[in-house]
Amino acid sequence: MKAFSDAKILDIDLTNKTFVIKTLPGEIYKKYPGGSALGMYLMLKEMKSGIDPLGPENMLIFSVSPLTGFPISGQSRMVVTTKSPLTGTAGDSQAGGFMPAHIKANGYDSVIFRGKSEEPVYVYVDGEKVEFKDGKNVWGKVTGEAEAIIKEELEEERLEIAQIGPGGEKLVKYACIMNMCNRANGRNGVGAVMGSKNLKAFVVKKSKPLKPFDPVNFKTLTKDVKQRISKNEAMVGLGEHGTDGELEGTNDEGYLITNNWSKGYFHEANKITGATMTETILKERDTCYACAIRCKRVVEVPGKVDPFYGGPEYETCATFGSYCGISDLETISLANQLCNMYGVDTISCGATIAFAMECYEKGLITDKDTEGLDLKFGNSEVIPVLIKKIGKREGIGNLLAEGSFKAAQKIGEEAIPLSMSVKGQEMPAHMPQFKQSLAVIYAVNPFGADHQSSEHDLFLMMPPDSKERKWLAKIGCEKGYEDYATLDEGKAAFGLTTQKFLSMLDTLCLCQFAWGAAWQLYGPDDLLQFCEYGIGWETSLDELLLVGERRINMMRYFNAREGFTKAQDKIPERLFEAFSDGPAKGAHVDREKFEEAKLHYYELAGWDTETGNPKEETLKKLELEWVLENKF
Ligand code: SF4
Repeated sequence: MKAFSDAKILDIDLTNKTFVIKTLPGEIYKKYPGGSALGMYLMLKEMKSGIDPLGPENMLIFSVSPLTGFPISGQSRMVVTTKSPLTGTAGDSQAGGFMPAHIKANGYDSVIFRGKSEEPVYVYVDGEKVEFKDGKNVWGKVTGEAEAIIKEELEEERLEIAQIGPGGEKLVKYACIMNMCNRANGRNGVGAVMGSKNLKAFVVKKSKPLKPFDPVNFKTLTKDVKQRISKNEAMVGLGEHGTDGELEGTNDEGYLITNNWSKGYFHEANKITGATMTETILKERDTCYACAIRCKRVVEVPGKVDPFYGGPEYETCATFGSYCGISDLETISLANQLCNMYGVDTISCGATIAFAMECYEKGLITDKDTEGLDLKFGNSEVIPVLIKKIGKREGIGNLLAEGSFKAAQKIGEEAIPLSMSVKGQEMPAHMPQFKQSLAVIYAVNPFGADHQSSEHDLFLMMPPDSKERKWLAKIGCEKGYEDYATLDEGKAAFGLTTQKFLSMLDTLCLCQFAWGAAWQLYGPDDLLQFCEYGIGWETSLDELLLVGERRINMMRYFNAREGFTKAQDKIPERLFEAFSDGPAKGAHVDREKFEEAKLHYYELAGWDTETGNPKEETLKKLELEWVLENKF
């Protein structure tokens, strides 16, 4: 057993172009071991409430974890934590790629950007050398161009670059931060915060990988995992067809979000499935650092779609596809490329366009507003035009750059129910009418609706002796269900328990595809072995679940400081209305059951049922009493 290492934090002041390197003692770091747990710890300690998310007081924090950068599948992720300009809540956004491993290889657990540069700048980090570079040459450039210029200016190819596109510069409320030009810290508008600081890019020089604490056992584990990947049918499928491999089954069941959530079945879904992509435009598969799963897509359409920008995930195929009534995979791939070039979140962007299409069809937006663009569902030609307009905040793009909720408020009362968002963030492509626990989790999640904050209900209908159910039983979810339509206390408990588990994975910056229940690569016991062999941390599942719970409560407390209560824990009204046709005919969320399950969730979580905020005793149980000392 080794003492938990101190966290090394690079703290950069963009206003004064200075930096300090700080350490956080290991005994503290162990309670907030990476990701937005560490980010929230730093923000709650130092940042005042009520600040403007796009003002210099906001902190923009990139964090990895003690486990990042080891040569094992599913560990290279990083989290950006900030106050979100989209939701006004704690902001959390995650991305994979190679950058996380190289942040860690440069010696850092966390990199803070604070203040605001007077002029555009990019920051180059090579170990303890930190340089502020003139960013005027790259400001205004799309991501691919900016990356090429930065590599030329630094005369170095071995770089990892996290950057914003024009969308971040123009403060699009759902702007993202891109690395490799095809991996996104996509959600919560973190790219707009970076843009508000005049920070075009954060660049690290590639460095040497980390050595595990127990190399012999670590090697045995990694070897075993590689074999498991090749023998595991689900893993092979994820590698072969990517996350979009899920789209076909989703549609068959009747819960593929179509025409801005007005239907659950898309009659042309077969044209946008993962298998179709593999057969038609897939050029190759890509991966994250040291991951043998290789689930990332690289697509090519000569003269139209450049493989440099990767390829669309399931979420992107749904939001730009069925959400908008579009079945043209080439247009969806081009949309993915343009979002990556302009640096905007594909989920919020596609969903906001789908919202605009419904507003247009209902006459709430007219040809005058769109300057003649025909926004009817299914018109694929309009998609690339709209993304560019959003990225540049031109014409109707300026309105849509605010996100569907704020745009709806400007359009008028009738548009508000058409914004399919929670706390102002567009919902991802998983239906709570079908996966009922998501109704509660979408509502209560501190940073808006998120599909990767808890496991989904489908596992609960599997036989008790299935691998998935046994996996879930290990973390305390034993109850099964016979149908998807149930929403009760058990579902609330399932949502909360799996939320704690996934919150812990997000803290440790581990990929949920590899470490979650869905694809059955690793079990919870493997995680304990990874902690032990990787960093000498002899931990337990209970300790890890507390880590996850602590992160959720810190975020929720952050929101409470900002004035959020359970009043914002709402889901869109449309989810309470039954589908009138299709395979999921009748599916809906029952309002009464939803309210009861939500109340039960608060009770289980130790949150005040009147306010929805963490009780003092809960904060104390989680050793978070220090947050109460500073009420701001
Ligand atoms: S499973 Fe896919 S997303 Fe996850 S680390 Fe591996 S390649 Fe990256």
